[in-house]
Amino acid sequence: MPETYKEPAPYHKGEDNPFESMMIRFDKAAEMINLDEGVYNYLKLPVKQVIVSIPVQLDNGKVVAFEGYRVIHNNALGPSKGGVRYAPDVDLDEVKALAAWMTWKCAIANLPFGGAKGGVKCDPSKLSMSELEKITRRYAANLLEIFGPDTDIPAPDMNTNEQVMAWIMDTYSMHQRKTVTGVVTGKPLIIGGSRGRREATGRGVMMATMAALEKKGVKPDNTNVAVQGFGNVGSVSADLLSEKGCKIVAVSDISGGYYNSDGIDIKKAVEYVKSNKTLENGKFGDKITNKELLEVKCDILVPAAKEDQITSENAPKIKARLIVEGANGPTAADADQILTDKGIMVIPDILANSGGVIVSYFEWVQNRLGYFWDETDINNRLNRMMNEAFENVFITALNHETTLRIGAYIYAIEKVANALKLRGIYS
Ligand code: GLU
Repeated sequence: MPETYKEPAPYHKGEDNPFESMMIRFDKAAEMINLDEGVYNYLKLPVKQVIVSIPVQLDNGKVVAFEGYRVIHNNALGPSKGGVRYAPDVDLDEVKALAAWMTWKCAIANLPFGGAKGGVKCDPSKLSMSELEKITRRYAANLLEIFGPDTDIPAPDMNTNEQVMAWIMDTYSMHQRKTVTGVVTGKPLIIGGSRGRREATGRGVMMATMAALEKKGVKPDNTNVAVQGFGNVGSVSADLLSEKGCKIVAVSDISGGYYNSDGIDIKKAVEYVKSNKTLENGKFGDKITNKELLEVKCDILVPAAKEDQITSENAPKIKARLIVEGANGPTAADADQILTDKGIMVIPDILANSGGVIVSYFEWVQNRLGYFWDETDINNRLNRMMNEAFENVFITALNHETTLRIGAYIYAIEKVANALKLRGIYS
């Protein structure tokens, strides 16, 4: 438990401004479909951007005010949906980009949701449980008018988990004077969570990979995979891909990574991380850095850590033939063309990692029904929706003779633009 809380050090993000990085792809897709100027202007500006102060008394008695954000990018298709991340370097621009990505992600997955994202600028590794609870409850209390099962539904994201969702649900419910499970997804099972939600993003990454391999006519057991990030998304993706017969030759987390041409035993690595927190000193193979992992000899690369990992600098050195984006925004916009020129197939984030929000949708539906599905049912439904989304993006890309990323944007933008046109502008 920290004695004193130090303000996080100034952060150094890649040169890419995340919102601009999203807009570069959006602009390209909008141009290709001749998007109506009014609709373009409408979609460019998030519907709502909120910054809140979160004053909290730390365990040492000192009061610190944290900054919290919630951005609703769009709600034309339904209530807005998206996670909340806790990180020292999160800011409004990043949350805006992530909120927009949620709009496109939900549209591609055919969910009745718009897109939103939230964040609190804090370093959870330096905070005690009670400090985290106070931050979460105050953040939720500040956003009572925004959150709601019919308005805006948060979920876990980087450094937030089931416990954080339970606190948000409880805080909201206390104010409503009744238990409202559907206000948040990614909750623990016994208070309205869904079976399969924890593994959903990684499972979706595996399903998207299988769909891509099928298109390429490649069998999974002939492939070598490198996975960057060993959190909820990376570890589950690696585990399920290895169950499908892929050989996981490299893994990494914040402590660094390992390369092993004989393949890494992922179940062992998962057990190791359970008791040691990170992969550090795990002896899974030759030590490599996170940067080196992206360039190792492999067929499939799964960046499942954070934004801006694949850049114009390292893109030329990537050896994988297929990239499946488990993280949000792992490829900087200026790397897109390099990957295309190299003939690398990229399953974009807004398709590849949509398994999480798809099962969030199932959780929300189950909360409204008051009836819960079993895990097989969840996974079958997820498989169906992932494959449908993949097929829609694939066909759109083919029709427009473009990449899967731009195809995904086109599919999403057309859908949201259509909804906007039907609903009309209320003024
Ligand atoms: N944070 C996850 C994402 O980026 C899940 C969002 C949700 O379930 O609402 O897709």
